[in-house]
Amino acid sequence: MPKYVYRFDEGGKDQRDLLGGKGANLAEMTRIGLPVPPGFTITTEACRAYMRDGRVPPGLRVEVTTALRQVEDALGRRLGAPRDPLLVSVRSGAKFSMPGMMDTVLNVGLTDASVQGLADMSGDERFAWDSYRRLVQMFGATVLGVDARAFAEALEARKAAAGVGSDVDLAAADLRALVDDYRRIVRATCGRDFPQDPREQLDLAIEAVFGSWNTGRARLYRRRERIPDDLGTAVNVVAMVFGNLGDDSGTGVSFTRDPSSGHAGAYGDYLPNAQGEDVVAGIRNTLSLDDLRTRDPSSYDELLAAMRRLETHYRDLCDIEFTIERGRLWLLQTRVGKRTAAAAFRVAVQLVDEHLITLDEALARVTGEQLGRLLFPRFDRTADTPLLTRGLGASPGAAVGEIVMDNMQALARTRAGAKVVLVRRETNPDDLAGMIAADGILTARGGKTSHAAVVARGMGRCAVVGAEALDVDEARGEVRVDGVVLHPGDVIALDGTTGEVFRGEVPVVDSPVMRYVADGLDAGLRAAPDGEVRELVHAVHRLLTHADSVRRLRVRANADTADDARRARARGAEGIGLCRTEHQFLGERRRYVEQVVLAGSDDERQAALADLLPLQRADFTDLLEAMDGLPTTIRLLDPPLHEFLPDLTELSVRVALEEERGQADEHDVRLLAAVRRMHEQNPMLGLRGVRLGLTVPGLFALQVRAIAEAAVGLRRAGRDPRPEIMVPLVGSVREMQLVRAEAEGVLAEVAESSGVPLEVPIGCMIELPRAALTAQRIATQADFFSFGTNDLTQTTWGFSRDDVEGAFFSEYLENGVLTISPFETLDADGVGALVRIGVERGRSARPGLHCGVCGEHGGDPESIHFFHEVGLDDVSCSPFRVPVARLEAGRAAVLAGEDTTV
Ligand code: ADP
Ligand code: MG
Ligand code: MG
Repeated sequence: MPKYVYRFDEGGKDQRDLLGGKGANLAEMTRIGLPVPPGFTITTEACRAYMRDGRVPPGLRVEVTTALRQVEDALGRRLGAPRDPLLVSVRSGAKFSMPGMMDTVLNVGLTDASVQGLADMSGDERFAWDSYRRLVQMFGATVLGVDARAFAEALEARKAAAGVGSDVDLAAADLRALVDDYRRIVRATCGRDFPQDPREQLDLAIEAVFGSWNTGRARLYRRRERIPDDLGTAVNVVAMVFGNLGDDSGTGVSFTRDPSSGHAGAYGDYLPNAQGEDVVAGIRNTLSLDDLRTRDPSSYDELLAAMRRLETHYRDLCDIEFTIERGRLWLLQTRVGKRTAAAAFRVAVQLVDEHLITLDEALARVTGEQLGRLLFPRFDRTADTPLLTRGLGASPGAAVGEIVMDNMQALARTRAGAKVVLVRRETNPDDLAGMIAADGILTARGGKTSHAAVVARGMGRCAVVGAEALDVDEARGEVRVDGVVLHPGDVIALDGTTGEVFRGEVPVVDSPVMRYVADGLDAGLRAAPDGEVRELVHAVHRLLTHADSVRRLRVRANADTADDARRARARGAEGIGLCRTEHQFLGERRRYVEQVVLAGSDDERQAALADLLPLQRADFTDLLEAMDGLPTTIRLLDPPLHEFLPDLTELSVRVALEEERGQADEHDVRLLAAVRRMHEQNPMLGLRGVRLGLTVPGLFALQVRAIAEAAVGLRRAGRDPRPEIMVPLVGSVREMQLVRAEAEGVLAEVAESSGVPLEVPIGCMIELPRAALTAQRIATQADFFSFGTNDLTQTTWGFSRDDVEGAFFSEYLENGVLTISPFETLDADGVGALVRIGVERGRSARPGLHCGVCGEHGGDPESIHFFHEVGLDDVSCSPFRVPVARLEAGRAAVLAGEDTTV
């Protein structure tokens, strides 16, 4: 039988799978001698057994008894005893942190009998009743399923009756009466009394924590964060320590460095005379660590020493929950802290400079997604949009949107296409759906460690919290601030860095990091408003440069025009992986395409194509000039021809009208016939790509000639053009053979007539399953492969992207058929298997065959790691994503073979 219970002195930080993050780190802190109250952890395995069997595994109760007795003996107290009672907290804690999403019950063990014992032991009757009412409230809500609002209302009523504004001002007698109120609520809604057996409380609380793994909000959070649903949570049973024992007690949350800016130096919030959740709930405004230093210097010193110890031990930014009980410090939780993108880069480089980690490790600790966030635009500081109010910048970003005040409004308005800002007095875990839908979050209460701030940082959402001037009247659906009344639908703008809130839209400008990637280090530093941002720009520069030095994957860009190419090059692209030539057939040039289609003879068609030649040559000359010296892959025309012709319905109507007037235009009539002839039920699988090239004589030859002549022209001008020709939608080696023969003929002819030798590789896209499966044959005719993973995903799944994404993807994500859209992150099991096969078979026929990828996946972090692993040579992505791909390719090299989950 598995062991389900581990004492804190039995575990360690590497056991997050089994003990959850909280349990593993409590054990670790115990092991290194930090002051942690005694306790034990029930494993995630027990939770999985509970979910599987619908009941607590037999044997767990016995193990809990043994561990509980050991805690009791260590402290010389008994759970819930009438004299000197031991109380415990029963806390959730999964492998991956899910802040506030699951349940925790504090003060378990308090009963009518033991509450007196607690009063005697502490010499503080008020405290004892305060703890008891908290237990009935938390236990009632989380274990017995009582609506938490009923308790909140009873509390408000008691405060009103006593004539006080805050819960700390309630006297012992008020709290005692409140316990009676609460117990009446429990009896009325559950038909049972609040349990008076301490052990029954413990067992029920353990079960409730297991069950909280599967609450709606926890599932939603996991889906968003891509945490598997079957991990389960551990349960931590911890001897209670009390922050609500008066003014020399309190509770707080702190970070070893500022998690929002990355500023070096401890950062935290402290709340005197309070317990547990009071800090994060944002119900009272908190004090800073500096205030704590003045109030209680020795606890402060001890806290700072503990934080330094933890940071040295974990070699990373840690966050901590602590409680001070009558001047004595206790640590209740630590973990490697969530942080903003800016803090991630700054802290990683600070730790390198402090010789705590290597550059490789620093690189592993930042992500392409974080870099992407730093590239988002910022508000234009020179704009004159009126400032509405100010709060704390808790999670950076610039958000503009309509005010919404609850989940329903947030979802309704975003479904209608609006951008929204969720405005709440404070947030709690039930607001998650609205927070996900919103572009920004604004709260009136709470500090930088409040629920809103922590969750927003985790999601990379812009947030401003603790804007105290705001009066958020949820009942009336109004937000009042300094005489201004705002309603849902009114537009506001949030600056998550400065904490400013504006009324109306604010224009945006490039971020300093964006300036850096586009125009270099000096430009980035010049754009930085202060030393902190300069430090950030330097940090990004160092890690990106390091990524470039370690990565194996080359990074190219998808660019169709010379402008795009230059932009990509400035951002570090090492070539063009995909230039789509279709736009070169649009607009003005459409009429040439019509002539090609309508041509009655080969000669007529050749003449029409010849008109296109100088235009195409000019396009390629510009592009190759912009990419001088770098490989530039040009894809021959891919989409079906009718995409360049007028719309069937429009044209039919036009011709019908003309005919009615008796003056049908002969060109239109012929065109209509051609469009009808070419109309396809399913163009995606029809006459396109190489099929078109083999069907319309001279089309591909024209493009090849334009490329060749452009190269010759540039070569003569002393340049170094490096074109590569890519054939789309190949499914059979024979197709490649035919196109290749024709292309080689054209290249040889241009080379001979110009006297300039041309060496232009001819390769193909692998975007059909058949191409991947017969890659060993196709490779005999292809100088390189480029996996077109967009089409390969469509053809592997049989999904037509445009049809399925809007139609049923949300259901597929809901019911778990998909965990993420395969168009966003490569489906490694299916489409990825074809990529792997394509590379292996291709290289078996042609050792060292150059393989790249040019789908949108080329810019997706997770997919890039996969491409690194299967041994591709390069990824190609949009110019904007190039820095992200460089960083992730570097991370992939550093992390290869390691567990990449953080
Ligand atoms: P969460 O995962 O939501 O942070 P926790 O299990 O950490 O939930 O607990 C909620 C709050 O209760 C935290 O502020 C924590 O520090 C506090 N707490 C938990 N256990 C104890 C204990 N044994 N003594 C005092 N406070 C506790
Ligand atoms: Mg906690
Ligand atoms: Mg394609």
